[in-house]
Amino acid sequence: AAVVELRRVSKHYQLGDSRIDALRQVSLAIRPGEFVAVWGPSGSGKSTLCNLVGLLDAPSSGQVLFDGTDVATLSDNQRSIARNRSIGFVFQNFNLVPVLSALENVMLPLQIGRAGTRQARAAALRRLDEVGLSTHLAHRPARLSGGQQQRVAIARALIGAPALVVADEPTANLDSSNALRVIALMRRIGHAEGTAFVFSTHDERLLDRVDRRLRMHDGVLVEEGAAAVPPVPAV
Ligand code: ADP
Ligand code: ADP
Repeated sequence: AAVVELRRVSKHYQLGDSRIDALRQVSLAIRPGEFVAVWGPSGSGKSTLCNLVGLLDAPSSGQVLFDGTDVATLSDNQRSIARNRSIGFVFQNFNLVPVLSALENVMLPLQIGRAGTRQARAAALRRLDEVGLSTHLAHRPARLSGGQQQRVAIARALIGAPALVVADEPTANLDSSNALRVIALMRRIGHAEGTAFVFSTHDERLLDRVDRRLRMHDGVLVEEGAAAVPPVPAV
């Protein structure tokens, strides 16, 4: 069964008198543990697609199914619960809380979800170890490199053991070696834990690391393909 499925999904934006077709009749299914890149030029609809896959936005037409359920049939509250329990998010600008340590940033989603502090701390320690940052627990984001901040953000996205992580341009602010490291890390964790990852990028150099590519052009999913090159071993 798919974690998330889009059936003939279109998304329009109204900008003054003109209508922008950000997505046109896109159909796709993301399976458990799949590591998927959404790629294409700026303005091709990658962010819009990520927002729909992450249940952050509603389609203009077509259906979004999450874990087999049509998201449109859920109440606002049920949709929020599905998103909070089952989806992690990673952002281009890391979006860490500047006044909190790495450890506190990673604990935060569980604490908002009313987990006990001891339980949240144990889970965050495990996640920070998994992303190679056990030695930086007390560091605030400003004292971490971009690559380290994004690894904290990945640990935070994974803290609730989501079925899916959506990452919109997660490597846009990283140099190429950190970009490759972050992608390899996400891929390794996704495959090890059965977490599906969907990330957008305009960087073609990252595409030989994925299980599947969704190429966007002018709001159309023009190509769905497996990686041309065998995936490299995880870092
Ligand atoms: P990408 O992520 O590939 O750069 P986007 O999904 O951000 O593409 O944008 C797709 C199209 O939709 C673009 O033409 C963009 O300008 C437009 N668009 C995106 N968000 C909005 C919005 N909130 N209002 C109006 N137009 C938007
Ligand atoms: P809030 O309304 O407080 O932002 P919700 O969870 O109720 O929180 O909704 C967040 C967003 O989820 C809304 O902008 C809504 O449009 C969007 N959303 C995602 N998928 C759907 C869907 N299939 N049908 C309606 N709304 C959806």
